Amino acid sequence: MKQKLEWIVVAAMLSCAAGPVAAWVNHTLGAWPALAAMPEINAAPAIRVESLDAFLAAEGRGLEQLLQREEAWARANVPLYPPRPGALTFTPGGTPAELRQRFVAALRINPGMKLNLFVQVPPGESASGKATLPWTEVTTRRRASAAQEGVFLQLREGDRVALLDVVATATDEPDYGMDIGLWDDNGTAYGKAYGFGKQPFGNPALEFASQAPFHMGFFHETDLVYKAAGFLRRTYPEYRIHLWQSLAAYALQTAHPYWGWRFAGWGLHYIEDLTQPYHASVLPGVGAPRLLWINTLDLLGLHEPKKQAITLVSNRHLSLENYQYHRMRNAYVRHDSSDALVRAVKDTSADAGRTSLTDDAAREVISRESNALAGATDRVVEQSLPRKYVSDPAYILGETEPELDLYDVLNKSPPPAREAMTGMAAGLLTNFGAHSRAFVRTLLARSQQGR
Ligand SMILES: [Zn+2]
Repeated sequence: MKQKLEWIVVAAMLSCAAGPVAAWVNHTLGAWPALAAMPEINAAPAIRVESLDAFLAAEGRGLEQLLQREEAWARANVPLYPPRPGALTFTPGGTPAELRQRFVAALRINPGMKLNLFVQVPPGESASGKATLPWTEVTTRRRASAAQEGVFLQLREGDRVALLDVVATATDEPDYGMDIGLWDDNGTAYGKAYGFGKQPFGNPALEFASQAPFHMGFFHETDLVYKAAGFLRRTYPEYRIHLWQSLAAYALQTAHPYWGWRFAGWGLHYIEDLTQPYHASVLPGVGAPRLLWINTLDLLGLHEPKKQAITLVSNRHLSLENYQYHRMRNAYVRHDSSDALVRAVKDTSADAGRTSLTDDAAREVISRESNALAGATDRVVEQSLPRKYVSDPAYILGETEPELDLYDVLNKSPPPAREAMTGMAAGLLTNFGAHSRAFVRTLLARSQQGR
């Protein structure tokens, strides 16, 4: 029997649509300590800020060739890759505005991205009188965005800036609207031109849901699940990671360090998203037999079990991210570098055996690892947080209480619950840090090989 299983990803979609959350919330908070642990990043000399227009004007020819090679790579290596239409092929020359428009189209990103020059200011620190950019200048999103809580220092061409701040800031940028509205059925002119096809899953009318197939990797579901829901195979973080890493290596080789490290940050974002088990597993904590049974009940007209399963997985997904974000933000505000999550992300002892990333690592290593952790992660969330948030299908996380701070809630919980959540989240963030550093080491090796 062919069963309609689209609902199983609605859980993931709900998580993306409900609140100011998107996998790890504010990747920059994790990337700073993760990469500060690398002397080659932390002690690097300051780099010169360069506008995108200057970079494109200087490197048009080389970028034309690089983007052709990338397209060929993706067609040969990314399963079910939607080829880039020939009309979007990047060509050099023309006015700065034309060049930028052609570059953005060849990358197939949201043309609403302003790609301004900025770095984040860590929570708890002030801009100390320097010019800042309002959050509306860094993100296309107009509500429910964690960027609203950020402070962004405005940079100008020629400024000197710490390499670490450039790359760490850029790790959060793919959540600022870059991958929104790209599908044929998203009601955008660029979505119609980009050739990605119809959005594989989730509601195409919900703005934030449209980015999910680029930020999740459902590479390790059971055959049974794929048989019933083949659209789950259409997730494309590998395409993004390879594209950003190649652009980063190219920019570093051609002495454009600002863009090199900014593209590197974009690539890191997708690597880090895949270390979140709810981004590498469709329904953590729900085995395939139960999933199909719930689906059968649904087909028989009993819709309640399905609705409940979706809400619970969504609430747990969001609970983990809410807890991680508030805890890390709190550590920054208190200048507490000894917090367990901050320590985990900079724990270089986890790097042993994970010193570099192959092209298939997102699929074969990172998402495999977090997919395997999904069941245990879900159990810790379920057992450690008060029932209301994680086991009550009448409660909608992010909506019922918009200002919810689960780190604060957990601090009032019994020690065993606090310790279990700390241990679980620290384990995931250890992977976040180790894979981030492996990505950067791989990039440095690639960029030193020359062209
Ligand atoms: Zn993301």
